[in-house]
Amino acid sequence: MNNSIIPETLKKVVEEISQLPGYGEKSAQRLAVNILNIPRGEALKLIKTFMEMLEKIHPCRQCGIYTEEELCPVCRDENRDKTIICVVEESFDAFAIERTGKYNGLYHVIGGRLSPLEEITPEDLNIESLLKRVEENPVKEVILATNPTVEGEATASYIHNLLKNKKIIVSRIGYGLPFGAVLENADDFTLSKALEHKTPI
Ligand SMILES: [Zn+2]
Repeated sequence: MNNSIIPETLKKVVEEISQLPGYGEKSAQRLAVNILNIPRGEALKLIKTFMEMLEKIHPCRQCGIYTEEELCPVCRDENRDKTIICVVEESFDAFAIERTGKYNGLYHVIGGRLSPLEEITPEDLNIESLLKRVEENPVKEVILATNPTVEGEATASYIHNLLKNKKIIVSRIGYGLPFGAVLENADDFTLSKALEHKTPI
């Protein structure tokens, strides 16, 4: 944005928002203007909520799900099956699977997907900690529940390769989920089916 009539602070906000993954200049402009358009009190309340979130929320020490505690409710739950780990890209994927009520194992949030375009490499993801968990705990099965997208598939097969010599079952969800779908947007029925029809790979 080189236009000199754009206020400096607005320019700065748009620049900063467009650094976020998934935001281009246009969507950054829209977000900035939307915030300017709502009543000031509401906008400040929103920013306060953001600050509170940043203060309180961090990844679970064990699985990486965003939580306000040291360990998330899933990791704290004694009744969960600790021999199964479901690998997801983001916390919201785990929240979506939880909503189905059909899964009783643990999770591992890798924090994204491999993407050569965005220069996201295995080192940028929580894959090392997954391998460590598998080695140090009595894990029998790892379900790869990365999104059925090009990047999600590449990520799943990368992790599969790392796990295939270990004595565990590695399975992949996918049945019923259309290619290109994003887990957190899938309806509960489709997601339940996808979990039910996971296949060993
Ligand atoms: Zn956890």
